Amino acid sequence: MNLEAHLAPYAAHSAQSRGRRFAEAPALSRTEFQRDRDRIIHSTAFRRLEYKTQVFVNHEGDLFRTRLTHSIEVAQIARSIARNLRLNEDLVEAISLAHDLGHTPFGHAGQDALNACMKDYGGFEHNLQSLRVVDALEQRYGAFDGLNLMFETREGILKHCSPANAKKLGDIGRRFIDKKQPTLEAQLANLADEIAYNNHDIDDGLRSGLLTTAQLDDIDVYARHRREVESVFPGIGGRRAINETVRRMINALIVDLIDASQTRIQEAQLKTADDVRNAPALITFSESLGREAVLLKLFLRENLYQHYQVNRMTSKARRIIRELFEAFMHESALLPPDYQVANGDRAENLPAQARKVADYIAGMTDRYAMREHRRLFLVDEI
Ligand code: MG
Repeated sequence: MNLEAHLAPYAAHSAQSRGRRFAEAPALSRTEFQRDRDRIIHSTAFRRLEYKTQVFVNHEGDLFRTRLTHSIEVAQIARSIARNLRLNEDLVEAISLAHDLGHTPFGHAGQDALNACMKDYGGFEHNLQSLRVVDALEQRYGAFDGLNLMFETREGILKHCSPANAKKLGDIGRRFIDKKQPTLEAQLANLADEIAYNNHDIDDGLRSGLLTTAQLDDIDVYARHRREVESVFPGIGGRRAINETVRRMINALIVDLIDASQTRIQEAQLKTADDVRNAPALITFSESLGREAVLLKLFLRENLYQHYQVNRMTSKARRIIRELFEAFMHESALLPPDYQVANGDRAENLPAQARKVADYIAGMTDRYAMREHRRLFLVDEI
């Protein structure tokens, strides 16, 4: 039975895939992209997402998004859109669930700090690390390291990449050098990520009290839906009004993305999935909603991500990451054996040792990093 018979000709089909790095017998009861999705869900890195931060550190409140709930929201949004466009739902789901696997503890503050620590050793970039997790770091299969995912899943996970890193990656980095597009599914997962975090950061921002509804009333896309909610439900207030508003915003963005993308796909007259690579980006918002989404992002950056209370946490996070890195590089014998390179303190082995330290730190959850920091620096903790 062809489980992908319903897909559009320009969708990514398992049968036309560039395949896996290590050849495997075909999956019997699922498509190859379903198999990727399943491998991701069963990975260790996926379970760690539960205790990794988006904006708020994990222990700050039980109701805030974590990277796990964020990834599930991205997958939900991406699948809804994919079904409308007859794209491969299994592939967008796999990319969405895996897209943040390489994230450090403490969100972007952690990634920036680790990147600074790794400056002399090739840097640290979370998209690249997500690929490294699925290509090399997971150890679950006898025949290979990593999860041995399909080319298109790996390509979608590698959302951004510097030209210098792209050159080292061979096939998978090629599109960044040739300036070509990835599959429509990869483009879609990327925008579903944006829809998810913009909206849940508003929701979490309001829940935390760091944002107020009065501030948001100056943001067109929020104010418009808020007015709509109040006209349909006069007198509505509190959490229920916020939930109704955010729900409508997500829906409006999804519907807009479907319509605008459908039009662009038709205009491009795609015949095959390969045509997608040579076309411009086809999964896009309409111009007006795209503009509003940018304004919303700017608002969140100024008012939430750089709120002084968030800054206090990110400052602490940077210090924890930096001090862990310095302690391990200064004395590699403090590392668990799996992360020690033979003679790791010798100058010629420092780059390899640094990469292992980065893998170790990037794999930590927020609370594990805090505990490890206490273990290393407090005399009465072991
Ligand atoms: Mg994300």
